Amino acid sequence: MEVSFEELVKKVAGGEIKLHQVEKYTNGDKKLATEIRRKALERKFGVSLENIGHYSIDPNRVIGKNIENMIGVVQIPMGVAGPLRINGEYAKGEFYIPLATTEGALVASVNRGCSTLTAAGGVKTTIIGDKMTRAPLLKCPDARRAREVAEWVKANIDYFQEKAVSRVTRHGKLRDVKPYIVGNNLYLRFEFETGDAMGMNMVTISSEEIMKVIEEHFPDVRYLALSGNLCVDKKPNAMNFINGRGKTVIAEAVIPREIVEKKLKTTPELIAEVNYRKNLVGSAQAGSYGFNAHFANIVGAIFLATGQDEAQITEGSHGITLAEVTPEGDLYVSITMPSLEIGTVGGGTRVPTQREALSIMGVAGGGDPPGTNAKKFAEIIAGTVLAGELSLLAAIAAKHLAKAHKELGR
Ligand code: NAP
Repeated sequence: MEVSFEELVKKVAGGEIKLHQVEKYTNGDKKLATEIRRKALERKFGVSLENIGHYSIDPNRVIGKNIENMIGVVQIPMGVAGPLRINGEYAKGEFYIPLATTEGALVASVNRGCSTLTAAGGVKTTIIGDKMTRAPLLKCPDARRAREVAEWVKANIDYFQEKAVSRVTRHGKLRDVKPYIVGNNLYLRFEFETGDAMGMNMVTISSEEIMKVIEEHFPDVRYLALSGNLCVDKKPNAMNFINGRGKTVIAEAVIPREIVEKKLKTTPELIAEVNYRKNLVGSAQAGSYGFNAHFANIVGAIFLATGQDEAQITEGSHGITLAEVTPEGDLYVSITMPSLEIGTVGGGTRVPTQREALSIMGVAGGGDPPGTNAKKFAEIIAGTVLAGELSLLAAIAAKHLAKAHKELGR
């Protein structure tokens, strides 16, 4: 390094060297560049960033893949809930689930749900849909031409897989397309299987290749945007709620009345009534896509712990919780998550701490066969979300919610 550390800090603090240019002066040493940027900020603002500077992640492994202008890390406490017995098609057995959060009482509450569900014999999980979507936008001369293009695209899925998709990915497989036409705009919502990856990069790159083929075939049609917002990524929306995106997964359990009374200190009737009046009627009145108590709490804490794309907590918060009293007087509970966008390879799952968190559940990396690890992970998340819903509904029914937060959250 020709310029000294001190000099570089001064130049970055003064704006003479831009934040993203530091690596040029450190011979590509990204760890050193990270230190320089942080020191420059300390200098500029007269603050100490000592804790942000404590980390074990190697910046050389994450800069350029997961982060730019790195200055350190933020630490979020991680707890674990479990054991949770899951009787899934991919997740079978007892699991411990890592949860990263700063909300006191959350892990304790999920843990109580896990204990109740496990005592009742476990959670049954079922994946009813698996697709990652991208919806490019094409501008057509008129609606009739848009319809012609849509029909041709629908008839040529295999051709696109061979001529476009298979050239850019091994695990990405184009399975279907749902066209939407608005005036002269054609939105092609492509549906892909993406193995163990959440798949957004994979389907974005694949969709661009498909657009090249369409443009070649229809010179009067203009490909305008790789995403026409009908995908739908990282926004609350009815599309994913109805049609699904990522994994669509259901978790169910029947909890004997004695277990509800002993562990949750309430009754099946009260839980069912609170669920109906709060999660269903209250959410309908609010115009919410979340007919649930707090999917986002559990989805958020697992996403942060395991390197999922945190912006997709938005769609992960969609879904419906049901609670009914069975003819035998026990409690049936279920959660339905239409849009759980998760992966065990790629993206943030590569970061060592997040990968370790995935390994606690036995889902780090690719599955054998590919896709099975991501499905197992989706079932574990769904089971944990059910535990969280059950525990919170019970706390509200038993009027314990404020007390728990007073004791654990303040
Ligand atoms: P990715 O890391 O871009 O792709 C996954 C990689 O893992 C591919 O190279 C794939 O190879 C490989 N792979 C190895 N074993 C696999 C297996 N068993 N199953 C599936 N893939 C396997 O990850 P991604 O999931 O497509 O994209 C996730 C990233 O996209 C996240 O960082 C997210 O934040 C970001 N993102 C991007 C956009 C966008 O518009 N581009 C939008 C939202 C989020 P093959 O491809 O050869 O199969």
